[in-house]
Parts: sequence; structure tokens; C-alpha cells
Amino acid sequence: MRFADIPGHEQIKSRLTGAIEAGRVSHAQLFTAATTGAGGDKQNAALPLALAYIQYLNCPDRTDGDSCGTCPSCQKISTLQHPDLHFVMPVNKQGKKSGEAITSDAFLPQWRTAIAQTGGRLDEQTWYDILGLDNLQGLISKREADEVIRKLSFKSFEGGFKCVLIWLPERMNTEAANTLLKILEEPWERTLFILVSASPRLLLPTILSRVQEVVIPADPTTGPPTEETGEEFELFVELMRLSYNDKHLELVKWAERVAHLGRERQKRLLENFIRLLRSSFMISAGLENISYLWGAEADFCRKFAPYIGAHNVEGLVEEMETALGQLRQNGNATIVFTHLALAVSKMIMHK
Ligand SMILES: [Zn+2]
Repeated sequence: MRFADIPGHEQIKSRLTGAIEAGRVSHAQLFTAATTGAGGDKQNAALPLALAYIQYLNCPDRTDGDSCGTCPSCQKISTLQHPDLHFVMPVNKQGKKSGEAITSDAFLPQWRTAIAQTGGRLDEQTWYDILGLDNLQGLISKREADEVIRKLSFKSFEGGFKCVLIWLPERMNTEAANTLLKILEEPWERTLFILVSASPRLLLPTILSRVQEVVIPADPTTGPPTEETGEEFELFVELMRLSYNDKHLELVKWAERVAHLGRERQKRLLENFIRLLRSSFMISAGLENISYLWGAEADFCRKFAPYIGAHNVEGLVEEMETALGQLRQNGNATIVFTHLALAVSKMIMHK
């Protein structure tokens, strides 16, 4: 897949290619869409952009910020048949015997067809439908993680990067995550991990702290209107400003305003809040170069970062997650957001 095959997203494309041109290729990256959740854009461009990124990285004939699409490397990558490109995705099968290990490789033909047919805009349920799982869920097992380590221990077939693309890493069980953690901690030379997640919140913090996050902004063609995204950011700024100034009455009004939004938007709002908090924390920890923010978000998070640190980031994210859980169980939105706003204000303090 070439970048040109993916409409829009010019800013992120030039960031990605610019980083490669500057020789900044982080060994573990997490591609994720800015708006996820049931009401969000499930068939987002995170996977297509990850594939275009890998193709660009390996192409010897890059021109005009894109891979050539015709060299042997591009052809093998675009058909998902490159010997140094490995795929891991959640899999399962009906009537699996206990103790029977199934790994992604057995489902590569379905995977190639699914990507070819959707242009990579694939969501989890569609994938499970293709596998005929009915109400079974896919998973990424310890056996799969062992297999990844085994494959990476070989020399690169074509002399370039060895690359593992893990689609929906949130489906790894703990043993699988712990196995991969070791290699994420101490990367091997010219080995690249690309994680493409639909729910980064579900990833273990130990994994999250080892990956560079690439947040794909809402897609103007299929995603929610950017006006909404702008309002969500505004609501985040408002919450943090009122919290910092201890404006309790206005915080309650803020909560009432949010309570009037639709339930799906409320969930997406919280997911975006968590993302912004995490980015601010990275900046405050001196890891700004690994956080992909721009525009108004970058400006705000840079100013806000001094108020976020190890002392409060976990508590804040925990409050957001509790609120998310309560919304999922149909909790009363006014109560949920009022509690959240007051809890946040206790944790955002003058220094
Ligand atoms: Zn090429």
C-alpha cells in the first residue's frame, strides 16, 4: 500500500516520512486512531497508514514522499508476502480443542484477502466474521509470541528491516504480552514492531510505556465531523482550566453540559481525555519527541505538562476509566461527570 492510496491525512503522512528521512525510526510504535469506541470510526486509517509506512521504510526508490509501489520490495509488501514482514492478529476457531495452539500464520490467506478487499480498513468484528467465529473472540497467545521471537531470531531475508505488525495487541493475554515485553525493552538491531490498536487503553502500561504512539487524527471522510473533535478538545481544556482554578460551581456546570451529549460521544470524549493526559505526561517526562501531537493540542499539552506528573497521572487516568466503565453500565451521566470533574480538580494542583 502506498500513502497515495489513503485519502487525506497529509499531515501525519509527512510526519511519518519525515521521521524516516531524518533517520528516526523508533523500534516500537503504536498506531491508533484518535477517535475510537462504538460511535467512533472503527474502519479508520491506522492499519493502512501502518502498512504504507512499512512499505515506505523498505522501498529503495522513494519519490515525492511515497514508496514507488513497483519495486520488488513494494510488491511483496503490498501483497503481504514479504519474508521479513510478519503479521500477528487475534485468531481463534470454532471447536478448538483445549491445549491446541493456533497462530496467525494459519490464517494468512484470509488476512491477505481481507486487507485487499478493505484497503486495510478492517475492524475486529468483520475479521471475526471472516474467520466464522460467531460469538467467539480472537486472541493472541503465548505460543504466538514465542513464534514471533523465533522468527525474529533469523537473519533478515532481504537485508532490510525485520518487521512485526501486531494488529489489535489488546487481544494479547498477559503471558504473550510479557514474552514480547522483553524484546520491546531491549530491541534487536533493525527490528521493528508496529502495533495497531483499536483500544490502546486496554494495553498493559508496561507495553504502553515502551512504544512511540502515532495517533491518527479523525478521518474527515469517514470519521465524525471535525467540529465535534474540536469541541471535545475544548471541553478537555475547560475541565483542566476550571480544575486548576478550583472553580467548583463552574465544574458542576461543565458536567451538566457534557451530560447532554450523546452516550457514545461521552465515551469517546473520555478516551480522548486519556490520550491527552498521557501525551502531557510524556512531555513532562521529557519524552516530547515521542508524542505525536500538533496544532492546538500540542500547544496546550506543552503548557499543561508541568501540572501532570508521576504523582497524579495514574489517578487521573483511573478516574477517567472509572467514568467510562460507569457510562458503559448506563450510569447517570450527570452524576458520573460531576464526580469526575470534582475528582480531577483535587488532583490538578498549583505547584
Ligand atoms: Zn518501492
